[in-house]
Amino acid sequence: MFGLKTDWSLELPPAYYTLEDYEGGTGRWCPGCGDFAVLTAVQRICRDEQLPPEQVVAVSGIGCSSRFPHYMKTYGFHGLHGRALPVACGVKSRRPDLKVWVATGDGDCCSIGAGHWVHAIRYNMDMTVMLFDNAVYGLTKKQTSPTSPTGFQSNTHPGGSWLPPLNPLTTTLGFSNVSFVAQTVDWNPMHLHTTLVAAYKHPGLSFVRILQRCPTYSDSMFRDLQDDPERLLLLEHERGLAPAPPLQRMYAKRLEHDPLDMAAARALADSTEQVPIGVLFADPSRPRYDEHTAEGLGMGVQERVDALNAELDRFAV
Ligand code: SF4
Repeated sequence: MFGLKTDWSLELPPAYYTLEDYEGGTGRWCPGCGDFAVLTAVQRICRDEQLPPEQVVAVSGIGCSSRFPHYMKTYGFHGLHGRALPVACGVKSRRPDLKVWVATGDGDCCSIGAGHWVHAIRYNMDMTVMLFDNAVYGLTKKQTSPTSPTGFQSNTHPGGSWLPPLNPLTTTLGFSNVSFVAQTVDWNPMHLHTTLVAAYKHPGLSFVRILQRCPTYSDSMFRDLQDDPERLLLLEHERGLAPAPPLQRMYAKRLEHDPLDMAAARALADSTEQVPIGVLFADPSRPRYDEHTAEGLGMGVQERVDALNAELDRFAV
């Protein structure tokens, strides 16, 4: 009629999420804090992957970095000290469809939360765990943390920490059923982003230690690594990170490292000569507990009742 098409329906494009769709409250970390870089990287990944914000959950415990969920415009859970991982496992076990990001610190994960750390790694549910390691308790104003280096002066050890620090990489690599371990630094946004992308895409629990600057309480902690990039060893492999040429140009020292090689991963993690950055270990074939807990989630009410009765009937006398 009147020369017009009869089909007036419009081909609407699917919703496109922008960075603003993931930006929550204004970050209240100190100026120059490395946490800002991590937050930006995660928001970019959510945007690049076009994750519906209602399908994303940010979970944390207690500490500076644990303010993370407040700054994501997604679902979030700011939990108790050391309890980020059990909350995240709970979310994942009942809603395996959600994308879970865990923000935890060296105190939160490696001290009070250490028991949960062991078992979350073993359960290997599909989530990305980011260890913001600034080697100091920042929120409570400068106490020695499990990863503080020997000699580090703090309010709890004014004469300097005298215990050797815990190494989160070698420790995690020693846990049963470990699936993915990587290390990156907050001051290189490209490497940080690339590492977190690899972690996000790994099927299973990805543990990423992020060397994170705390300019307020441990200003010089990683200064030598920033000033001398040759102290860092860039790990490359098609099964891990395949760094883009600009990233390769930043680091003179590079190593082809197969992330399936556990012995080599442990040796690298233990090295005092150089600090490895990239994927140390990745084995996507490790069993995942969230696949087990997902069984039966799609059942209707009557199906659940029938299944429950069938189970109970096994014990009838
Ligand atoms: Fe960041 Fe340190 Fe300030 Fe905490 S105290 S927000 S870790 S700079």
